[in-house]
Amino acid sequence: MQLTAMDIYRLLPKTNCAKCGEASCMAFATKLSEKETDLELCTQMAANELEKLENLLAPAVREITIGKGAKTVTFGGDEVLYRYELTYYNPTPIVIDVADNMEESAFDERVKTIEETEFERTGEVLTLNAIALRNASGDKETFAKAASKLKSSKFPLVLCSLDPEAMKAALEEVGDERPLIYAATENNIEEMAALAIEYDCPVTLFVQNDLEKMKELSRTLRAKGIKDIVLDPGTFVGEGIGDTLDNFVMTRRLAIKEKDEDFRFPIMGVPAITWLFEEDEVEGGIKEATIAATLMNKYSDIMIIHGTNIWELIPVLTLRQSVYTDPRKPQAVDPGIYTFGDVDENSPVLMTTNFSLTYYTVEGDLKSGKATCYLLVLDTEGRAVDVSLAGGQLNGSAVADLIKDSGIEDRVKTRNLIIPGLAAPASGEIEDETGWEVKVGPRDSSAIADLLLKLKGEA
Ligand code: SF4
Repeated sequence: MQLTAMDIYRLLPKTNCAKCGEASCMAFATKLSEKETDLELCTQMAANELEKLENLLAPAVREITIGKGAKTVTFGGDEVLYRYELTYYNPTPIVIDVADNMEESAFDERVKTIEETEFERTGEVLTLNAIALRNASGDKETFAKAASKLKSSKFPLVLCSLDPEAMKAALEEVGDERPLIYAATENNIEEMAALAIEYDCPVTLFVQNDLEKMKELSRTLRAKGIKDIVLDPGTFVGEGIGDTLDNFVMTRRLAIKEKDEDFRFPIMGVPAITWLFEEDEVEGGIKEATIAATLMNKYSDIMIIHGTNIWELIPVLTLRQSVYTDPRKPQAVDPGIYTFGDVDENSPVLMTTNFSLTYYTVEGDLKSGKATCYLLVLDTEGRAVDVSLAGGQLNGSAVADLIKDSGIEDRVKTRNLIIPGLAAPASGEIEDETGWEVKVGPRDSSAIADLLLKLKGEA
């Protein structure tokens, strides 16, 4: 059952002293329940109540951070099975693998590609998050040398070897940077557990398609005092994807519904497995992206991918951005006037709503079309054009207020407003309320730049 603000409030001092920055203990409890403040800000708590609250507030899935200092990434921390019940926390880090036996120049080039991969979508720059160093050579010195080289990378590390000696050699080089150890198995669990303790690093437990064994070994690690554990129940390609999903869903259900302490850890997905069975770059990239998308939707808290083609990564990163938006908060930009190009008093005036996906789509089309214009953005509480028209947020008087409050009438001589094609039913009402002449623009913003060019030709 999900923790409520009242559950938290019962354990707070109830003095309403406001030292936490909130007006009351209830307000603080509400923010704690939504993870919008920190428990430590209440300095008035008795030790026993504090401990109870810390346990109560611990997420169903443990939150784990790898890396140190400026290069860290945090994952896990989820509370619910379904996003609409609350939200999902900590977007799945995308980790790209690098083999320790690559030619030096190819190694450097691949690391550079990983670090520089980024693209912007709806105002957010999407990037990769970590590097997985594979002990493909099977040699401990080669592994350690490559790990040492990655010290200069801007990303945190996942060290991949089932050989405890190779893992120790690499940890000697980068253990102080808190890499994720991948992986402890039934065969090496004692040695890998000892390394996780010695270097104070999180460790992945890899048990293929056997949750009973996973439980047993997770308990073994926990009994040694290891708290930061990542669970990898195996990623299978082809028809095996069904087993993969079953294991991921079962693991997450055991964590959230059953509060099974042996499963309350982040899950690792490894779509990179695809490349064991596929050599063709395009086929492999498509298959890997498909598996990554499947696992992104079903509880993969961290993921190792091999392909670095941007056409493969864009859908995965875009899906991640969508899955990890907070459904409780409208995705909105600030309302007001935005300008494109070198505007003057004769520049055309357009209008749209402040739903961020709408705004950034229009912005992208105006920029790529090299348009020069004003764009008035109406506060529709983050709703799209058709939704806000149906919901009443987009109406004549709201647009009249926007024109008045934004000061656009002092900046242009024109009194012509181009509204989105989907807002056509409100065009008459907008004209009546604003006194401006309304022109209905295209339904698809990709046609706006052409419309502006055409209007310029007519002027
Ligand atoms: S500091 Fe603690 S006791 Fe004071 S108002 Fe905040 S939650 Fe309540």
